[in-house]
Amino acid sequence: MARTDAIVLGAGIVGVSVAVHLAKRGLSIALVDRAGIGEQTSYGNAGIIEGNTVFPPAFPSNFGALARIALKRAGEANYHLSFLPHVMPWLLAFRAASQPDRLLETAELIRPLYARAVDEHEALMAEAGASRYLRKTGWLKIYRGEKSFAALATEFDVAAKFGLPLQDLDTTGAQALEPALHPVFARAVFWPQAASVSNPLGVTSAYAARFAALGGVILAGDARSLHRAGNRWRVETNEGSIDAAECVVALGPWAPDLLAVLGLKLPLAIKRGYHRHFRAQGNAGLSRPVLDAEPGYLITPMEQGIRMTTGVEFAPRDAPPTPVQFDRVVPAARELFPLGERSDDKTWLGSRPCFPDSRPVIGRVPGHPGLWLTIGHAHWGLTLGPATGRMIAEMMAGEQPFCDPAPYRAERFS
Ligand SMILES: Cc1cc2nc3c(=O)[nH]c(=O)nc-3n(C[C@H](O)[C@H](O)[C@H](O)COP(=O)(O)OP(=O)(O)OC[C@H]3O[C@@H](n4cnc5c(N)ncnc54)[C@H](O)[C@@H]3O)c2cc1C
Repeated sequence: MARTDAIVLGAGIVGVSVAVHLAKRGLSIALVDRAGIGEQTSYGNAGIIEGNTVFPPAFPSNFGALARIALKRAGEANYHLSFLPHVMPWLLAFRAASQPDRLLETAELIRPLYARAVDEHEALMAEAGASRYLRKTGWLKIYRGEKSFAALATEFDVAAKFGLPLQDLDTTGAQALEPALHPVFARAVFWPQAASVSNPLGVTSAYAARFAALGGVILAGDARSLHRAGNRWRVETNEGSIDAAECVVALGPWAPDLLAVLGLKLPLAIKRGYHRHFRAQGNAGLSRPVLDAEPGYLITPMEQGIRMTTGVEFAPRDAPPTPVQFDRVVPAARELFPLGERSDDKTWLGSRPCFPDSRPVIGRVPGHPGLWLTIGHAHWGLTLGPATGRMIAEMMAGEQPFCDPAPYRAERFS
């Protein structure tokens, strides 16, 4: 049996970032995962570091959008009918949190954490030799109709209040940034301060290598073996038992499996999402992620090709993939960009771990001394990994956290 200062459970972007920040404080840390580093949700995302986030993705507010989803015609959302009764309480809470006043409140609460997102990645990338993955080329959002563009007025006002720059573009202005786009849209918004990465797995792996260089230990083991051993936490790994006074749970969409073992219940739901890679035709290329808002998909340049990611799917986390949204959005994507053939033969499925108020839980678990949670990063876990890592490490080390942790406390659900 070995002893460390802390155990971090889960080696996605969140757990690895937590582990690095703890190791930087001179603590001995064991990072435990049952699979490879960064190979789950943190592998397949769209690679956007979206420190600009004003409002989180919200429950549809107009009947037309809801009807399209209900009729399974929408690109932005799909669902398994038999799953709806299970997820209904969460959906109702999500709808309540999507009311305009609640969204404004959320925007204010989350700003300090998101504001550090790009800087914290840049700092870790510099230490980890991962800066080659970073693109500071912003994010382009395409709006095919004036109506969807007009709906952005409040977001623009709040962005101005926060000092977030944006450029409101017409078709020609957007094509000046991305010449390969076809003029099938009326309006676009360019968010110049968003960044993106060309290989999310490469980034997480580089941070894990930095953790190992700081003396951190990476072990294979099942987090569900976590239990109390005297006044310490113990987890079983392939190298034997590890004990520590403190333990951080960073299991992303699998967190409920361990919380259930510990008798804890939090309203964490899953929004599944898919990706596929495509070649571009001829010399066509993209310099940054592009969201095509109304059909509801995103294309982004990755080392593997043009990665297309889908919107959300409400279905059991472990149910077989049902990537029907591609049938709805690929024709729209081919209208917008000269997509060629697929460059992979596998469709990737990931699960965004989401709380109904779109805020992660970062902090202590009440009633469980030494147990900490960093879970529920939803649509923006790549974005928030390093900022979360810094914040929880500051809290655990008794330092003043760089932003107020109160909005992220688990107690808000009790
Ligand atoms: C289609 C899609 C697009 C996205 N695009 C973006 C984007 O552009 N920008 C952005 O910021 N975010 C994006 N996200 C969200 C982002 O990917 C997630 O929020 C983030 O990856 C969550 O990271 P995590 O470390 O919490 O979870 P994970 O990466 O899933 O890590 C959890 C780890 O826990 C391990 N684990 C699970 N169970 C056990 C167990 N019993 N024992 C031991 N280990 C275990 C897993 O193996 C895994 O390594 C996207 C998500 C999807 C699905």
